[in-house]
Amino acid sequence: MPNFISRSCILIGIALKDARSERAREERLNLTIRLRGHHLLCLLGFRGMGYSEAYAANMANVYNRLKDEPDTAVTIVQGPDDLCACFPIGVEPHCENESVTELDGNVLRKLGLHVGLDMPWTDVIERVRGGVEPEDIHTLCHTCQWRSYGVCEAGVRTIKSGQWLPALPDNR
Ligand code: SF4
Repeated sequence: MPNFISRSCILIGIALKDARSERAREERLNLTIRLRGHHLLCLLGFRGMGYSEAYAANMANVYNRLKDEPDTAVTIVQGPDDLCACFPIGVEPHCENESVTELDGNVLRKLGLHVGLDMPWTDVIERVRGGVEPEDIHTLCHTCQWRSYGVCEAGVRTIKSGQWLPALPDNR
C-alpha cells in the first residue's frame, strides 16, 4: 500500500531528497509520486526550468528520483499534483484552469491511461515509446508556454530512441 505523505512542497522535497533518518528513508521508499496527465510528458523535457526556484527544485527532485529509481510508483491524479504543490504563491495560478485540464486529457488519451492508475514509472516510459511521437507535443500541448523551447519534443525523442532520462544540467 503506497504511503501518501504530506503533500506540501517542502515535505515532498525532504522525502525525495534528504531522506537521512531511517523513518524518512522508509517513507521515501513507499512514496508514490502523484502526477497529472500532462506532467508525464513535461518530466521528459525537464532541463531545470520552472515557474520559480522552488518549483524547479522540486521538479528536479522528482525527475532525479524517476531517473535513478525507474520502478518508482506513480499515481495518475486529476488536477493539481506533486509538481503543482510547489507552484509559486503570488503568480497567477493556472493549475486548475480548464486549458491545463485539457492538456491532461490529451496526454492521458494518447498514452491510453486514466486518472486513478498506479504504475511504475517504467510503464509510463513504455507507453511513451509505443504511442507518442516527438511532433505530437505540438498538438497535445498546443496551449503550453514552454512548448516553443523544444525541450519536450527532444525529451520524447530521447525516450523513443531507447535512451533513459538524461542527467540534468550541472546546476541541478
Ligand atoms: S509542451 Fe508544456 S505541457 Fe507539453 S510536455 Fe512540454 S511543458 Fe509539458
